[in-house]
Amino acid sequence: MPKPSLYLKELNLFFTDLDETLIDKNYNIRDDAKERISAAFQKKFIIVFASSKTLAEEIYYAKQLNIPVIYIVENGSAIYIPAELSRKFFQDKTRKEIKLSPIKKEFIVSVLRKIEKDYPDIKYYSNSTLEEISLFTGLPTHLAELARKREFTETIFRGYASGVEKILVANGLYAQKGSKFTTIGGNVDKGKAARFLIKLFTRFNYSLKRIIGIGDGENDIPLLKTVNEPYIIGNKINLKDAKKVYSFSEIEL
Ligand SMILES: [Mg+2]
Repeated sequence: MPKPSLYLKELNLFFTDLDETLIDKNYNIRDDAKERISAAFQKKFIIVFASSKTLAEEIYYAKQLNIPVIYIVENGSAIYIPAELSRKFFQDKTRKEIKLSPIKKEFIVSVLRKIEKDYPDIKYYSNSTLEEISLFTGLPTHLAELARKREFTETIFRGYASGVEKILVANGLYAQKGSKFTTIGGNVDKGKAARFLIKLFTRFNYSLKRIIGIGDGENDIPLLKTVNEPYIIGNKINLKDAKKVYSFSEIEL
């Protein structure tokens, strides 16, 4: 006997990292990625950004894709589900904000300010000018502006010594290496956030048929271990069972 109601609730998820995955070294969305993401959306995949980037930056890229996206921000610190998707899938008219990290950026900054006394070379968003951020990251100023709107994490651009790490750990903070820099935050990761989202869909009786994930950096490994169809782009990481690709067009939909 077919179960039409269950059939209607079947969904697919497509998690993608941003830096050096969806977007290139110059912070532009890769053409092949744009094409593949649109094709995935047509095939009933819900697109989920999973990045160390801020909500403001992720929204900037979602607008360019012109499709509704779920945002996992700041390395899994929070999940934001726009009202449009929240209404469609969770009978909720408002934007869903799920904060997974108990750590606020202000606390991390207070620890870094103390560290700065012994490590004067250390540079991070909150002790850098907009021009310096542009220089460290290569971001144009309008994107550097969005990148420093952090809620849960701080990114260290320079001077990340082992002594610094020890002090951060002693203060209950965790470091995660991304494509470019080390980001400091709570005990969260993209995999934990992805599992939270998967559970949420399951609780609302959706059956997740396919779960794709793609990334390039160390901080993507927990995500790639969580999904059923993991893809690695580039040569930075290795993971058994993950398919290595050079382009989004190699992703099977
Ligand atoms: Mg990356």
